[in-house]
Amino acid sequence: MGVSMVDTRHVRVLIIGSGPAGYTAGIYASRAMLNPLLVQGIEPGGQLTTTTEVENWPGDTEVQGPDLMIRMEAHAKAMGCEIIADIISSLDLSKRPFTAVGDGGTVYTCDAVILATGARAKWLGLPSEERFKGFGVSACATCDGFFYRGQEIVVVGGGNTAVEEALFLTNFASKVTVIHRRDEFRAEKILQHRLFKNPKIEVLWDHAIEEVVGTQDPLGVEAVRAKHVQTGKITEIPCKGFFVAIGHAPASELVKDQLETHMGGYVVTAPDSTATSIPGVFAAGDLTDHVYRQAVTSAGMGCMAALEAERFLAETESDVETAVIADPEPQVAN
Ligand code: FAD
Ligand code: NAP
Repeated sequence: MGVSMVDTRHVRVLIIGSGPAGYTAGIYASRAMLNPLLVQGIEPGGQLTTTTEVENWPGDTEVQGPDLMIRMEAHAKAMGCEIIADIISSLDLSKRPFTAVGDGGTVYTCDAVILATGARAKWLGLPSEERFKGFGVSACATCDGFFYRGQEIVVVGGGNTAVEEALFLTNFASKVTVIHRRDEFRAEKILQHRLFKNPKIEVLWDHAIEEVVGTQDPLGVEAVRAKHVQTGKITEIPCKGFFVAIGHAPASELVKDQLETHMGGYVVTAPDSTATSIPGVFAAGDLTDHVYRQAVTSAGMGCMAALEAERFLAETESDVETAVIADPEPQVAN
């Protein structure tokens, strides 16, 4: 009968996630001498490793997303952050120290945790969508709209994101067609109003995307085929850019039953803070952000989370000291 050995690590600060939020938290927590440990997850470097040019990271007119993330990792490492290739499969926030269990069975315990697990754009799930991802198919108008100057664009979706992205894309495109599966948007009325009065935007109601069509060499989108949900009639709409805006899913599976969440799973943080509903648990980046969803804002929140974790640890550790001082040996009067 063998006894299984459990690999256990205790750290003061555990950072979960290796996107801009996680690495920035790693840089700041290291410089605060907290000896943080960062667990990278299934996508080391996060969402930016899935894109090419990034043109809005301050200081770099243009940088490749994967390169930027390699530099951030190197920066965090150079500051002393320990970086581990593991995936956290469960997290217990019910008592401190908090306990996280890695995929390989390693148990991480920590006095404070920074959650930076990001969010994922939802995709339609079509093979043709997959084929053209990064070559005409995108889920981020802010990132990729610029590449379609003077060209036709199709956006799919009917929520705030789709409507905002369509409006934003009119800055570049000659025409934007929004395709929605129903005959009304769920987006806020004010956004809808702006969309309907924009002469560059047309809406195709009651249509579902059937296929993205394009060229193989060079790889590029030429049109999308959409099917009327009642009649089945197919309409082909020419476009060079196809933006999928059917929602984002925050990666909050680890904590959704333990922390307060809202808007479909985003972790709630206190105003102007990364503090969550549990003291010592901080959340940064796209995991908490349903509005901006940018690398630079995520990095900013990573910085905030590390500074707040540092303050939290200083306060709780000084509480322990105060408690010890407040309970000294009984004084004997002479
Ligand atoms: P993410 O980058 O989403 O990283 C999340 C991290 O958490 C990953 O490392 C993942 O492995 C890890 N993780 C998740 N679950 C676990 C787990 N259970 N255990 C351990 N780790 C876990 N923004 C811009 O500012 N400019 C752009 O040009 C731009 N282009 C983009 C292009 C594309 C195609 C996409 C998808 C997004 C783009 N964005 C851009 C948005 C930007 O990438 C995000 O806002 C940013 O990456 C969010 O950072 P984050 O640190 O919150 O999380
Ligand atoms: P969302 O509100 O969930 O809307 C997603 C849209 O995509 C819906 O219209 C939905 O159609 C459609 N859709 C979903 N799956 C689809 C599929 N497989 N095929 C075709 N269409 C599909 O997502 P969101 O627009 O990203 O917004 C997310 C949250 O962020 C919301 O709470 C939103 O209010 C918020 N947000 C706010 C702002 C703002 O305040 N300015 C901006 C952006 C986002 P149905 O309508 O038929 O379900």
